Amino acid sequence: MLSESAQTVTRQKEGRSYYVKFRESWLIHFKWLVYSPSAKGDYCKYCVLFFAKDNSTRTKPGVLVATPFTNFRKATGKDGILTSHEKLQYHKDAMMAGSEFKGG
Ligand SMILES: [Zn+2]
Repeated sequence: MLSESAQTVTRQKEGRSYYVKFRESWLIHFKWLVYSPSAKGDYCKYCVLFFAKDNSTRTKPGVLVATPFTNFRKATGKDGILTSHEKLQYHKDAMMAGSEFKGG
């Protein structure tokens, strides 16, 4: 009984540290990614700040902008939410607006 529960805790800890390490690498790779503790999810700080200021594409903001990103299993890779977010036109516009805002 005791060893069984200890094993479960160890397994949970290993899973958690793996997960935290994984997330750290996203935050390094995706400079625009921020974690919101109140929303318990991630946002794109540029899109949140600069989306639709003069949005001519009429694209509706999705996950990472209007709603927090919480489906961490779908973060990266083919069709990953983080990787495909970087390719969105409104994200590129927001990044541009962000760099101008900071004065280059
Ligand atoms: Zn973005």
